[in-house]
Amino acid sequence: MIRIGIPRALLYYQYYPMWQTFFEELGAEVVVSPPTTQAMLAEGSARVVADTCLPVKVFLGHVLSLVEKCDWIFIPAVRSVQNNVFNCSKFLGLPDMTRAVIPESPPILDIEIDINKGKRKLYQAIYQLGRHFTWNPFKVRQASLAAWQAHLNYRKIMSRQGLTPPEAIERILGTPEVEHSTPAKQPTSTRATIAVIGHPYLLYDEYINHRLIHRLEQAANEVLTPEMLTTEELESAIAELVGRAYWTYEEEVVGAGGHYLQNGTDGVIGIIAFGCGPDSLMMDMVHRRATRLRDTPFMNLTLEEHTAEAGLVTRLEAFLDMIYRRKRREVKVCV
Ligand code: SF4
Repeated sequence: MIRIGIPRALLYYQYYPMWQTFFEELGAEVVVSPPTTQAMLAEGSARVVADTCLPVKVFLGHVLSLVEKCDWIFIPAVRSVQNNVFNCSKFLGLPDMTRAVIPESPPILDIEIDINKGKRKLYQAIYQLGRHFTWNPFKVRQASLAAWQAHLNYRKIMSRQGLTPPEAIERILGTPEVEHSTPAKQPTSTRATIAVIGHPYLLYDEYINHRLIHRLEQAANEVLTPEMLTTEELESAIAELVGRAYWTYEEEVVGAGGHYLQNGTDGVIGIIAFGCGPDSLMMDMVHRRATRLRDTPFMNLTLEEHTAEAGLVTRLEAFLDMIYRRKRREVKVCV
């Protein structure tokens, strides 16, 4: 059986159930790299220039961890998934960059996804990908339909049941993805609803964000993430904030940020990667909206490989303290 390696990084949390279904329907075995470690990050970083963004360094570390564990590695070049809305250039060149900096990588299975080129080109690209496994176009069609259905189910389960991508993957596939622990008992005045916004590869990689979501939940706060919103909610927040989206995945920053700032959360935490052009622009818009509304506290966290756990925890504690104090004041005013 052909083994297909999938790095647990970048677009993994957006599309894994879809990719897994596609390859398994075509008779392949899917091998996923383990969660990020210090060694993986160090090895990935050693292959590129220092100012490459953190998520790409992490991604390369995951590819290295799959060398000799699979026959092919799946690295799509996702250019655009919506008309006239484009992805960051790092995603476009990902297969070529990986080939160049990791020559020992297993052969790369790549596919260019660009909705602007029309449906016909997209179907041709999917068929070409499927041809590595079968010459039968009907089998490829069947596998792609099953994969698309898996993706729709994945999105639905997250927005309807309020699950994060790792929780949804665990629920759907039964593979352990998140650490479960009982939240500490806290009085209501020290419990808050906190929205965490940003790209999934920053929010759900517990190594690079120092288990931010886990820490918030551990302290008995309710955590909301972009995937818990419907497409309509995200699109209407983008329309209100910036008119129309330019960047792919603007939903998870601008859409989710705009929505949660306006719709009753106690605080919003925005996470971006150091040196990321698109993110700094998008998060700045959310920050300005937060400043204008003056209603919901907003904290921006920038992650890079030297982000110290202690520094992040201190900022988080200070932010939560401020929110709890506000909540106590509000209770007193009501009484
Ligand atoms: S959007 Fe930013 S963080 Fe993500 S890959 Fe592009 S440059 Fe890196």
